[in-house]
Amino acid sequence: MSSFDYDLFVIGGGSGGVRAARVAASLGKRVGIAEEYRYGGTCVIRGCVPKKLFVYASQYHEHFEDAAGFGWTVGESTFDWNKLIEAKDKEIARLEGIYRKGLDNAKADIFDTRAELVDAHTVHLVRAGRTVTAKTIVIATGGAPNPHNALPGHEYCISSNEAFHLKALPKAILIAGGGYIAVEFANIFHGLGVETTLIYRGSEILSRFDQDLRRGLHAAMEAKGIRILCHDIIEEVTKTEEGLRARTKNGKVLDVGTVMLALGRDPNTKGLGLEAAGVKLDERGAVVVDEYSRTTVDNIYALGDVTDRVQLTPVAIHEAMCFVETVYKNNPTKPDHDTIATAVFSQPEIGTVGLTEEDAAKRFREIEVYRAEFRPMKATLSGRAEKMIMKLIVNAEDRKVVGAHILGHDAGEMAQLLGITLKAGCTKDDFDRTMAVHPTAAEELVTMYSPSYRIRNGERV
Ligand code: NDP
Repeated sequence: MSSFDYDLFVIGGGSGGVRAARVAASLGKRVGIAEEYRYGGTCVIRGCVPKKLFVYASQYHEHFEDAAGFGWTVGESTFDWNKLIEAKDKEIARLEGIYRKGLDNAKADIFDTRAELVDAHTVHLVRAGRTVTAKTIVIATGGAPNPHNALPGHEYCISSNEAFHLKALPKAILIAGGGYIAVEFANIFHGLGVETTLIYRGSEILSRFDQDLRRGLHAAMEAKGIRILCHDIIEEVTKTEEGLRARTKNGKVLDVGTVMLALGRDPNTKGLGLEAAGVKLDERGAVVVDEYSRTTVDNIYALGDVTDRVQLTPVAIHEAMCFVETVYKNNPTKPDHDTIATAVFSQPEIGTVGLTEEDAAKRFREIEVYRAEFRPMKATLSGRAEKMIMKLIVNAEDRKVVGAHILGHDAGEMAQLLGITLKAGCTKDDFDRTMAVHPTAAEELVTMYSPSYRIRNGERV
């Protein structure tokens, strides 16, 4: 019997932390877990899940409009923000309950408190005012929105955290950033009837995505009525009688009810006692880990956003499962961060996996690009002017599909399945001999027989 109170103590009750704690406990380990806010973490409480519910809510006005083309007459419709918040909060509370129940069923001790390291084996439970010891400790404290302290007036701005609890919808909103959160929320607010402006410092939104999709989404968002200002940043936010005034570098003055900053997320490592325990942090404050998620202290591991590897829920969960394999199943397993499929729940949606055209062209001597741009079937009767874009990027040398990119309805769902094919190393010939599912949009992925163009030694031919 070990002299420690626990075999494992996990700090942070989000996707990664809960998974590590629950699975370790179900293997018979003595596990404690502490969370200072709510179990479920960013994804469940103020991220992926409530965001997706908001996305659904924001799509209805287009559904109502589209219905006319199919013979429906929809009566006058109104939207009640508070009803949405109430329904969302109820669902989030239900999910939080499931997270707690899972831990409880596995017989993990659940602590509702902030926890900080005292040394490599000792954790201080702040609310309880006592310490516990553990043989192994996992840091899974996630991240928090970058508050952009350098911006004068940043204290008047909200982040995605507050967007989930606004008392009322503003008439107009300015959203700073060109990443996942800025783009998703710009579409959400616009869909709910808020006059929406997005301001981004670079030349095109979603800097890490395929150019075609970035341009296509930009055009689609503008066509809906979202204003997008590129090559610009907010320089100052001040309070006015009506709301907020933002001044930009390019001399624009925007009067809005709300300014939302979506400028990336910082690892949550402040005040955790990590340095004192010998855990090394990088220049961004992220916990430095090796390939097995082990920190610079042998018995301390870190999982998920706090390590700033890939800030995605499924990645944190995967890292947790690898941690359990490595530490409790005598099966050293490195998380695999290669070829991760992902979706941006913009409107239209983006689904993507593998290399962008630009990255593939740099990596391989010759690539084939298969590209289709078409009007989805539903838009023929609804009359909505929207286009889907689908792209496959193929390494000409071995015919492997190295990138797949979709803009349009259900792109996220398609990306999940494409993720399997790319992970399995499927070639374009495998796609070609796959029968189409008709009539779907996805059939386009297996019926693009000739390359739209090739890129050889960086030159389009
Ligand atoms: P992202 O990293 O996606 O985007 C941050 C944006 O802020 C970029 O456009 C970046 O510009 C810009 N930026 C950063 N610093 C500044 C600055 N000082 N001034 C002006 N602009 C700045 O972060 P998000 O906050 O959108 O999301 C955080 C993470 O959460 C994402 O990385 C993603 O992994 C995850 N997430 C995933 C979702 C999903 O799976 N659907 C949904 C939401 C979040 P530039 O591009 O030029 O660097």
